[in-house]
Amino acid sequence: MSISENLIQIKNSIPQEVTLVAVSKTKPVSDILQAYQAGQRHFGENKIQEMTEKYEQMPQDIFWHMIGHVQTNKVKYMAAYVHLIHGVDSFKLLAEINKQAQKNNRVINCLLQVFIAQEETKFGLDANELNEILNSEALKSLKNINIVGLMGMASFTDNIAQIQEEFSTLNQLYLKHKNSTTFNINFKHLSMGMSGDYQIAIACGSNMIRIGSTIFGTR
Ligand SMILES: *Cc1c(COP(=O)(O)O)cnc(C)c1O
Repeated sequence: MSISENLIQIKNSIPQEVTLVAVSKTKPVSDILQAYQAGQRHFGENKIQEMTEKYEQMPQDIFWHMIGHVQTNKVKYMAAYVHLIHGVDSFKLLAEINKQAQKNNRVINCLLQVFIAQEETKFGLDANELNEILNSEALKSLKNINIVGLMGMASFTDNIAQIQEEFSTLNQLYLKHKNSTTFNINFKHLSMGMSGDYQIAIACGSNMIRIGSTIFGTR
């Protein structure tokens, strides 16, 4: 099936209020253009340099999502245009994003990444660290960021019950903090679910899914 057919099939299988982020990492601009022509506007990349090159070549009405782990010294390369940074996992990184956003005269949307998997390899905060950041006095001085929700990745496993449990844990944290709105905390996105588990994620409360291989083919 073509990229546009894949997109249509996914769109038809998810509720309208769920945002589909098409993960185009490693894929050429020609593939992204096909998705764009099929109406897709939200794209996700996990490397800043690759995202910036694509940003420069693609139409300007695309929303670029940084879904990968972000190194503090690279924030400046995407600060002018990035729509949403999914993988924020420290206060230090938030402070740097704020600084670069300020330089660009904008407010940058961020998701805090929470560690929910039973694996050693995935980044993210635990529930206590999340609490600490959201309740910290220092957060109140960051005027150029907006924390709009949470992001997480489930374990890579066939055990559906385990995936459900991990996504439900994240949803509970999301709901818990959704009510503690301040000027720079405004929860509205719960980013969870990839090609292999997005239906489970949506059933567990996700409203933003990040799909790569089911749209663009294997990498
Ligand atoms: C690559 C990636 C995805 C998409 O994965 P697929 O299995 O290809 O859908 C989603 N989220 C993150 C953080 C990724 O790095």
